[in-house]
Amino acid sequence: MSAQDILVLAETNQEALADISLELLAGARQLAGGTGGQVVAVLLGPDGAKHADALSAADRILVIDDLQLAAFSPEPYLAVLESVVSSEGPRAVLIGSTTIGLDVAPALGARLDAPVLSGCQQIVVEGDTLKVTSAICGGKILADVEVKGSPAILLVLPGSFRPTEETGAAQVETLPSPVALKPGAVTFEELILPEAGDVDITQQDVLVAVGRGIQQEGNMEAAEELAHALGGELAASRPIVDQDWLPTTRQVGKSGMIVKPKFYLALGVSGAPEHQEGMSSSDLIIAVNTDPAAPIFEVAHYGVEMDLMDLVEPLTEAINARKGEA
Ligand SMILES: Cc1cc2nc3c(=O)[nH]c(=O)nc-3n(C[C@H](O)[C@H](O)[C@H](O)COP(=O)(O)OP(=O)(O)OC[C@H]3O[C@@H](n4cnc5c(N)ncnc54)[C@H](O)[C@@H]3O)c2cc1C
Repeated sequence: MSAQDILVLAETNQEALADISLELLAGARQLAGGTGGQVVAVLLGPDGAKHADALSAADRILVIDDLQLAAFSPEPYLAVLESVVSSEGPRAVLIGSTTIGLDVAPALGARLDAPVLSGCQQIVVEGDTLKVTSAICGGKILADVEVKGSPAILLVLPGSFRPTEETGAAQVETLPSPVALKPGAVTFEELILPEAGDVDITQQDVLVAVGRGIQQEGNMEAAEELAHALGGELAASRPIVDQDWLPTTRQVGKSGMIVKPKFYLALGVSGAPEHQEGMSSSDLIIAVNTDPAAPIFEVAHYGVEMDLMDLVEPLTEAINARKGEA
């Protein structure tokens, strides 16, 4: 326990460790390298200990074992985090900018009278100073902020750090809740899963994303054929989903899915900040757009300025012909 430690709220999702937890752990390791403190991961819930191996790159793992924490509910989470953060006294608390994190972090900051920063993308320690790059106004502005006060509560955007692949020998401490918990005014009722039978775009290596540049619903089939020829699936920007051309499970972005495929082909997507929030960490991004000033070109590794309709069918045919030769 030191004022230089970095505390991470590890999240679970349907009993599995959420990807964001390993991303936060990677960020925390970097930060702890700067502060000289330890990385402390906090897992809430009776089954928390089963995720300890995955989080072993931390120095310590605190598992708070209480049935009231079995499913996310803001009040019990908040009560426990307030107590744990107060007693640990870390330099910073890394929380994912997720449904759970966005619910808990502001209230935690208010209760602890601690600074809260949202949209954190980069976090570094320079000397005694914690410097954060925070995406504000829906990602249109990147603000460089020096955080004064401790602990700093940092809401970290998914994709800001590569998930840690390191393992270590973290010390696991399973503890009862430090405060008596009772159900709050908000309780967990039901988890609504994506529509059955649809693909999970977060698990695809290749995504072909269509935006409003596809122009007509009748052109969707050609884009899907290209996606399948590439061994991938179709994804979309929000307007495509709003028009019911694809289900919500295919939407990429702030109010959709965060994806990190090996290859993201953006066809007629302008690259609004809300869309970029969901795809900018893809390994390889190629954008096709008629507008050379489209913001998608700022995050694309390669850009093609052309009408997507001149590309989609010939490219599909060329790929299929190449496969036929093989
Ligand atoms: C709170 C909030 C949350 C949001 N969440 C999301 C989200 O999760 N995901 C999301 O995507 N959006 C989201 N949005 C909407 C976002 O702001 C943009 O409006 C949206 O991403 C734009 O979609 P688009 O790129 O398909 O359309 P447009 O911005 O209209 O862009 C179409 C692009 O296609 C190009 N084009 C046109 N014709 C062709 C052609 N023939 N060939 C090639 N290119 C062509 C144009 O040059 C243009 O760049 C959100 C907005 C808000 C306010």
